[in-house]
Amino acid sequence: MWAEGWRNRFQQACRDRVDVLVIGGGITGAGVALEAAHAGLSVALIEQRDFASGASSWSSKLVHGGLRYLASDWRLTRESVRERERLLRDAPDLVSPLAFMLPVYRGASPGHAKLRVGLAAYDGLAGRRDAHYLRRDEFRRHMPYLAAERLRGGFVYRDALTDDARLVLRVLGSAIQHGARAANYVEAQTLLWAENRVAGARVLDHVTGDYFDIPARCVVNATGAWSDRIRAGVGGSESLRPLRGSHFVFPFHVLPVARAISFPHPDDRRPVFAIPWRGAAIFGTTDLDHVEPLDSPRMAAVESEYLLAALHRYFPTLGIRGRQALSSFAGVRPVIGSGAARASDESRESAIVSEQGLISVTGGKLTTFRPVARQVRERIAAALGRPDDDGAPAPLTVPRRAIAPRCRTDERIGATDYRWADLPCILADEAVVHLDDLMLRRTRLGLLLAEGGRDVLDRIAPLCRDALGWDAERWRTERARYEWIWQHSHAPIEPGPRS
Ligand SMILES: Cc1cc2nc3c(=O)[nH]c(=O)nc-3n(C[C@H](O)[C@H](O)[C@H](O)COP(=O)(O)OP(=O)(O)OC[C@H]3O[C@@H](n4cnc5c(N)ncnc54)[C@H](O)[C@@H]3O)c2cc1C
Repeated sequence: MWAEGWRNRFQQACRDRVDVLVIGGGITGAGVALEAAHAGLSVALIEQRDFASGASSWSSKLVHGGLRYLASDWRLTRESVRERERLLRDAPDLVSPLAFMLPVYRGASPGHAKLRVGLAAYDGLAGRRDAHYLRRDEFRRHMPYLAAERLRGGFVYRDALTDDARLVLRVLGSAIQHGARAANYVEAQTLLWAENRVAGARVLDHVTGDYFDIPARCVVNATGAWSDRIRAGVGGSESLRPLRGSHFVFPFHVLPVARAISFPHPDDRRPVFAIPWRGAAIFGTTDLDHVEPLDSPRMAAVESEYLLAALHRYFPTLGIRGRQALSSFAGVRPVIGSGAARASDESRESAIVSEQGLISVTGGKLTTFRPVARQVRERIAAALGRPDDDGAPAPLTVPRRAIAPRCRTDERIGATDYRWADLPCILADEAVVHLDDLMLRRTRLGLLLAEGGRDVLDRIAPLCRDALGWDAERWRTERARYEWIWQHSHAPIEPGPRS
């Protein structure tokens, strides 16, 4: 997708005015780039750090309707479950069905009747009938370590799971196949103006150190939690309420959940969930106002305490400790603030505003990136004064060479489902600039292996030398950078002050 020399070609191609400049390489920007390129527009997308390095790689990885939003926001739920079905169909190698279990405890809310009605409605919105009830013994067969006292049984329903960072790459790859150009580590610094309208951006390429202009007929601000910063350039008022959510990643033997399970947190009744993912188990999430810098969110001790309290209540015999986790991760949701007292009461709807030629799109979910992108495409068409053909959604294409062909002798990396044979292809083809791009987003080795994969780094070094030309000095710098990022943002933590 990003063949040798692509960075220089990107800069040269941007000398000519593009139809659309997309700022932000998360799922929203990638979706917009794909829709616009599919509509025949010339598109450039820039991302200040790595693709998917914002919220789009630190989500709960669910492609879902959001059962908990059913009562408050059923239209969003309907749109989301329909998108879930489409993504299951269009990207079956990346989005897979996930059985979710909901235990029912005597005297607890929500109870059996409420869940039955809710799940029937949830299924109904997707045109399916999957949810069913299991009696206590059968429920426990699937969840043997779940607290049994007062357990009546529970429901099983169906949602879907993905690898969010790879989904972004897939969408970007599809956009590129439709003619879009995309570069990571290129930051929009200021907006360009012509005739009192936004007409592009002055950008800094952090890899080459070059500043250059990207003139554009239309600029889309898809910078998620950073959106208000770009909008300040057109005098836009602040609209976002950044909300942090954090997760633990546990080895499967520490949190053995073969299916996903959700239950209300004992302190505040917010649903929390454990999800089997890539051979490990994710447990999250929190929902807190994020007042720290946006660039490197991390789980706070108070979040670790909150998550472990739920695990102790629902899996009391496992005695899970924070330090047993392989890693932790935190992301900042770009939520539109309405002043709700509780963070978790804020709506997850998306919002699109056009201000002096700048189209800003924020909020929303990973799941709904395609309908959001189509709405943005309509705004782009209006801004360019051309009719918007309301055709079929842009297809997701299968990457030409992302993963090496499988052969039986392929060696796995540790206990993960990644294979050594995959790495040279990823390094050669997927715009890896730093070691953390490879360890945390192109693969999730840094989350799934103990100590961020320290034991495999020596074997990765020659692969980076061969594919990226890194000499010994560069490798040392990259390794130190990666280890700092991992310690700062991904080391598992026990409740109490972080060392
Ligand atoms: C903890 C958590 C759990 C979630 N769980 C789910 C879930 O299970 N399912 C679901 O559907 N949704 C989920 N979401 C929501 C979903 O992850 C987000 O809505 C979505 O990823 C937002 O994507 P985005 O592209 O708008 O923002 P981002 O992914 O944050 O992308 C914005 C990008 O813009 C870049 N940028 C900023 N400024 C500039 C600049 N000046 N120049 C260039 N680039 C710039 C940033 O670096 C960033 O990469 C979750 C979110 C969080 C945080």
